[in-house]
Amino acid sequence: MKRFTKVLCVALVFGLLFAGLVFAEGEEGEAETEDPASQTEPAEEESPPERELRSDYDSTYLWIGLKYGSDAVDKITLKSTDGFLIVKGNNKGWKETDVTTDSKTLTIVPSGGYATLVDESGDTILGSMGNGGYIVMSAAEDPEDRLITINGSRYRDGATATVTNGKLNVTNVIEIEHYVRGVVANEMGYTYPIEALKAQAIAARSYAFRNINKHKNYGIDLCTTQDCQVYRGYVSEHDSTDDACSQTEGKVLTYDGKIVEAYYYAYSGGATLNSEDVWVNALDYCRGKVDEYYSDYKWAVHYTMDELTEEMESRGKDIGDVVSVQVTNRHNTGAVAEVTFVGTKGTAKFTKSTILSVLGLKSFMFAINDSQFVWSKDGQAIVTDAKVNVLGANSTGEDLSTVYVIGADGDVAKSAASDIRITNGTMVAMPEGSVSAGWRDDPVRSDVVYIAGSGWGHGVGMPQTSARNMADLGFDCEAILQYYYEGTEIGDLADFQ
Ligand SMILES: [Zn+2]
Repeated sequence: MKRFTKVLCVALVFGLLFAGLVFAEGEEGEAETEDPASQTEPAEEESPPERELRSDYDSTYLWIGLKYGSDAVDKITLKSTDGFLIVKGNNKGWKETDVTTDSKTLTIVPSGGYATLVDESGDTILGSMGNGGYIVMSAAEDPEDRLITINGSRYRDGATATVTNGKLNVTNVIEIEHYVRGVVANEMGYTYPIEALKAQAIAARSYAFRNINKHKNYGIDLCTTQDCQVYRGYVSEHDSTDDACSQTEGKVLTYDGKIVEAYYYAYSGGATLNSEDVWVNALDYCRGKVDEYYSDYKWAVHYTMDELTEEMESRGKDIGDVVSVQVTNRHNTGAVAEVTFVGTKGTAKFTKSTILSVLGLKSFMFAINDSQFVWSKDGQAIVTDAKVNVLGANSTGEDLSTVYVIGADGDVAKSAASDIRITNGTMVAMPEGSVSAGWRDDPVRSDVVYIAGSGWGHGVGMPQTSARNMADLGFDCEAILQYYYEGTEIGDLADFQ
């Protein structure tokens, strides 16, 4: 029954289009017609006054998946105070169709395997949205005013939907400059200096264009998470990030005449990595180097040998009981290139991004049970006077605003430097009461692996906090980008559209 309704509806739409076409031709060809068929047309079904179908082919549009896969929904409500245009389009732009609506609220529901568009009075406007290539676009004249509400959240431009397994995948179809405005503040704090924000805007724009079709299997270009770029729509826009976007409008980063994969992340921890040392592809502009402008971001984790043994078993590595984990190779920048798990029956080596996943680490800049990261009397992570173990500060005593205190039971807690007293290169906890309760006075356990490091992210491309530091030092966005993406130039997106 439902399927029949849809077919009927599509047939009706095509029928009207066809009738409109024939009628228009007739009008143009002959002022008076004696064709009896035309006389049967009821007077009220006269062709509407001719109007220019609106379009935009001067921009790039992106399909951003708001809800899909396991997040797919049962119903979508769209609202626009300016009303809607029903358009068809692709990444290069869109054109208004003959389908019109006066509704300012539209609903999309799944019906017979298709996303069906329904108006305020419950009439079906379109039987199949996404599969038919249709998009619902805000009808505002000025593109800057095109705002729609999708299930309660505001986005720029338009929306479409498809159906998978009876659920609706919700997509925001958005012009690339508008999309970048919804990204920058999520990827970099909006209080960051303007040249850093501009570098972020160019990187985000480049990444987006380069990754059109990244999630093609879901019918979208990009998702809204850090897998692609964090995007939350209109709510993310701020004056500062909007300034950064408008000052860099249409600008992308290029290398050898192509737009680059502008990877970025939060903290380098002191060095960046070659793209192929983290993933597979060697990108000439993503080369590992010592980062002169990094900010520290310290972290620490610990595991019992039992936990590490379980991890090896879950990965199918038959090496028996794990007895130690070692860094067995480093890049010349200091970034870890290989870790080796040593077991009672064998060893297992890990490289590239698996290093981070196998040990649950934030970055490649780390040491395992290494005095480099342990401040103590004798290289042991023990401060006997205070009955606590201290890890996470470097041995020169710099940057001690936060230290990591490891209890003998293996728990890690952050501690303010003011809670720590330093004496002659040895750290001593403050008098009783200043250290978190619950620490025991056992020595460090030999069956626990302590790992401490600096940095947060995959290490390829631009560290955003370093970009901030460069901007604070007076570098402009071009210098920042060229420092982290070597050999690149700023180019015009228009040359690639
Ligand atoms: Zn993604």
